[in-house]
Amino acid sequence: MFKGLLIDKGDDGQTVALQDIDEGALPDFDVVVDVAYSTLNYKDALALTGKSPIVRSYPLVPGIDFAGTVVKSETEEFEPGQQVVLNGWGVGESYWGGLAEKACVKGEWLVPLPSAFDARQAMAIGTAGYTAMLCVLALERHGVRPDHGEIIVTGASGGVGSVAVAVLAKLGYQVVALTGRTSEEAYLKGLGASAIMDRAELAEPGRPLAKERWAGAVDTVGSTILANVCAQTKYNGVVTACGLAAGFDLPATVMPFILRGVTLAGVESVMCARERRLEAWQRLGEDLEIEKLEAITTEIGLSDVLATAPDFLTGAVRGRVVVDVTR
Ligand code: NDP
Repeated sequence: MFKGLLIDKGDDGQTVALQDIDEGALPDFDVVVDVAYSTLNYKDALALTGKSPIVRSYPLVPGIDFAGTVVKSETEEFEPGQQVVLNGWGVGESYWGGLAEKACVKGEWLVPLPSAFDARQAMAIGTAGYTAMLCVLALERHGVRPDHGEIIVTGASGGVGSVAVAVLAKLGYQVVALTGRTSEEAYLKGLGASAIMDRAELAEPGRPLAKERWAGAVDTVGSTILANVCAQTKYNGVVTACGLAAGFDLPATVMPFILRGVTLAGVESVMCARERRLEAWQRLGEDLEIEKLEAITTEIGLSDVLATAPDFLTGAVRGRVVVDVTR
């Protein structure tokens, strides 16, 4: 038996409980992992609260990411004792995930734990932090350099936002942190933001083209804010879009794209190719300072998960929440 959260569906809708699960109930894939840490991401909060149809199959252990040690492997690539990390691939949505002491997954979904991090640090980064790095890589791939000007990070106090601010600042970019919580100014400046901007400044519908300000953007919120960010982006600037914390709509015009050559680059972490995952983890090892990661991280136990998850949906969580699945 092992401890885990289990989401099920009954006549009265979705239920979720911490319980003892029989190892025989684990899915039949080729690698069994003793999970050490998982995390809470925005998507986990949606799954745990049932606020969005994230869960595709019942019963299901939630948790879209985990880090731990291989205990059994039928693939040559991984052997017992090896430390591994998993992000995405439908785990915690269609397949049993990381909010449990054990997981059984496809070997091809795993990457080796990056040498720069231990399991707790890797999950302090988690899917949110790895997605932040995918956004930074997309900015670089599209040619945005620190001397081009300011980068705006929206939802800056959240998980993706906090890691994006820290990494971009380390790389020498001037980062403006857009936040609904201006009380987090000291936190965001501590991560390296050069200025704070109140979310209210971008929350109302704006003009199709506004005064040019941003060389680039990491947007985690979508909706009107993303539309306004595009309208304020400089000629040939690049906006990376990965999130929907404000909404999944995009009330924008084509003007920034056809008159200023602005690029809107979508960033997706779940099915992202293995080479790019490895690159993102490698770069996190180089460009995310450990002290900043600690400042971003709050640790909870598996038994605290159900009480904490709703806080994501009210925007009340700061930084990253790492989950010690053994307590
Ligand atoms: P968090 O909840 O940690 O952060 C989201 C932040 O957005 C909040 O902290 C808050 O920041 C801001 N926010 C919250 N509500 C609103 C609102 N109504 N309007 C504007 N801003 C708001 O989530 P994550 O950082 O884990 O994820 C961010 C987004 O990225 C989510 O939508 C998530 O689903 C998505 N995501 C997508 C991935 C992909 O593969 N594309 C992978 C990972 C995440 P503040 O208080 O500073 O304004």
